[in-house]
Amino acid sequence: MATLVDGFGRTFPYLRLSLTEACNYRCSYCLPNGYQADGRPGFLTLEEVRRLVRGFAAVGMRKIRLTGGEPSLRKDLASIIAAVSAQPGVQKIALTTNGCLLPRHVRLWREAGLTALNVSLDSLQSARFAAITGHDRFDEVMEGIEIAQTLGFDAVKLNAVLLRGLNDDELPAWMDFLRGRDVSLRFIELMRTGDNQAYFERHHYRAEALEQQLVDAGWTLRPRAADAGPAREYAHPDFRGRIGIIAPYSKDFCAGCNRLRVTARGDLRLCLFGDFGIPLRALLQSDDDHDALVARIATQLGLKAAGHGLHQGNTGITPHLASIGG
Ligand code: SAM
Repeated sequence: MATLVDGFGRTFPYLRLSLTEACNYRCSYCLPNGYQADGRPGFLTLEEVRRLVRGFAAVGMRKIRLTGGEPSLRKDLASIIAAVSAQPGVQKIALTTNGCLLPRHVRLWREAGLTALNVSLDSLQSARFAAITGHDRFDEVMEGIEIAQTLGFDAVKLNAVLLRGLNDDELPAWMDFLRGRDVSLRFIELMRTGDNQAYFERHHYRAEALEQQLVDAGWTLRPRAADAGPAREYAHPDFRGRIGIIAPYSKDFCAGCNRLRVTARGDLRLCLFGDFGIPLRALLQSDDDHDALVARIATQLGLKAAGHGLHQGNTGITPHLASIGG
């Protein structure tokens, strides 16, 4: 089986595929005014997704993450999960979701073939959660997480974006939460995007500062698995849960990059903060274009840069993460 290798020796077993740019939340750091449709043609259809994943599986993609926008807004999500899971070579299908539709649909998604789940949960306090996300859905999200934990997923992970002055005092509450729960929490350092520069200046909180608090409380860094993503994961013998830190501004963050992205309109993005997209949609209209699709993916990978330009304030063409699939 072929494997994609770029000019810096990195391999790419992991595709993040956005299914929609639409989102029902108004997260203060992402889409504070809510999703605004722009009248452009729609998002990839089920058939296009199937052909796309078949192409990526042929070049060695083993893990597909479905994201957005909010992917659970797709009425055909269960059918998409089933179609992705049927592609030879695909071993893991994960979903990143804001979680408010979990109580209604998570069993169906699991039955369709979903193997892992990431749920965004920026605060353990329902009033703060509502203030950050613009949506008072804390109870549904918590209920959904509890249900998901009974369904035998390979992993149920929670994502919390670290926000100075908004949720940076919640580490003790998170530790209580993780004491008896077999869950991985990921703290994500706020990333600067095209639209959130003033917000970033106000609320950016360095992941290293939180990491120091963890070390001071007796948490230790776990050895990195060979196929691990960018999170540095900490554990503590008194806690069942684990805490990961995703620090995009840290040295060497890009050296371990193992993922490519495709937007909801079928553009390949080599980097979350890249300057260009590579249109694939024209090659998703017929099964006959499979070889051309594989060739385009393989040749374009040569253009992947060594790292993002966030340190220089260069956020590329990404106005907010909902536009690309964060
Ligand atoms: N709607 C889904 C969700 O809430 O998980 C999937 C898409 S959302 C863009 C994916 C993740 O990106 C969420 O955990 C969200 O909190 C995070 N995110 C969005 N904008 C971000 C930013 N500027 N910096 C860091 N994380 C961000």
